[in-house]
Amino acid sequence: MMKTVYNFAAGPAVLPQPVLQQVQDELLSYRQTGMSVMEISHRSALFQDIIDRAEAGLRRLMAIPDNYKVLFLQGGASLQFHAVPLNLATTGKVAFVDTGNWSKKAKAEADKLPHVTTTVLASSQAQQNRVIPTVPAVTDHYDYVHITTNNTIEGTTFFDLPAVGDNILVGDMSSNILAQPYRVADFGLIYAGAQKNIGPAGLTVVIVRDDLIGKVPNLPAMLDYQLQADKGSLYNTPPVFAIYTAGLVFDWLEQLGGVPAMTQINQAKAKILYDYLDQSDLFTAPVAPAYRSLTNIPFVTGNADLDAQFIDAATKAGLYNLKGHRLVGGMRASLYNAMPIAGVTTLVDFMKHFEQEVR
Ligand SMILES: *Cc1c(COP(=O)(O)O)cnc(C)c1O
Repeated sequence: MMKTVYNFAAGPAVLPQPVLQQVQDELLSYRQTGMSVMEISHRSALFQDIIDRAEAGLRRLMAIPDNYKVLFLQGGASLQFHAVPLNLATTGKVAFVDTGNWSKKAKAEADKLPHVTTTVLASSQAQQNRVIPTVPAVTDHYDYVHITTNNTIEGTTFFDLPAVGDNILVGDMSSNILAQPYRVADFGLIYAGAQKNIGPAGLTVVIVRDDLIGKVPNLPAMLDYQLQADKGSLYNTPPVFAIYTAGLVFDWLEQLGGVPAMTQINQAKAKILYDYLDQSDLFTAPVAPAYRSLTNIPFVTGNADLDAQFIDAATKAGLYNLKGHRLVGGMRASLYNAMPIAGVTTLVDFMKHFEQEVR
């Protein structure tokens, strides 16, 4: 028997056990072919079925309208920081809501394009990114307004979307896609690296309204949404194994009841940890309650040595990857869809014991 461990990593992150089991069962011979899914041609009917089913699964889970394209790309969310302005910044005016490290990086990549001028509509920097800032009603025209729906490092979430008027909203949903409900039609474009809540690293999902693409000629092929859409994400060799696994994760999530059922589970998991943190004399959760993420929960003791001692003891107890991001320090528990409730209760029990011991 393998010892039970819980992996609280921010990404690459925990995957559902039944999915890993199925991957294992099918690894040496996918559908009686005698070949692994990693070895089959991306031009085969076998793989076309895999990618078609993955797309159909995601479309059902997010109720993606027909006038949106679903692209399975590579390069991570970080390449989308560049690809989004390349494809959508037709007039060169782009706006950002600054909610922390990832939104800053997204803006920095847009700023590198000579024809792009960026505006920050609101920032939470003065509040150490522990809130989502109020965005004043947007009256100017921008090619799009960019938000990071969930701030993986700082642990804040947009539960209400900013009012952007006639502008298009673009969402970096890397760390809370499929973890809570968003209406795709509220966005012109959504992107997410897969390795947090979808599947293995190497796959990036882009969901884009079809009238927004194909406006900029001569883009590099790999960064051209229209070309990728025309080719069904098969312009070049796609991340076959990651797409296959993502499809299995979508199936798993649908069997559980989809995003509404998962949201309830995620709310229950997050509540167990936040409730404990709010009454603890040792640990505190720095994020303001109204903005607290369901998927990434930072916490601190206020003493860096004690934090290190806690992380070390937790690791020995099989509670892995609780170290906070180096920018904020302390601890962070990532509670993505695949983290079972037992992982959270085990963590909280461990924290209670630790708190008693160091008193
Ligand atoms: C992890 C993360 C990124 C970076 O993702 P990569 O796929 O590693 O490029 C960007 N944005 C958010 C919100 C993230 O959580």
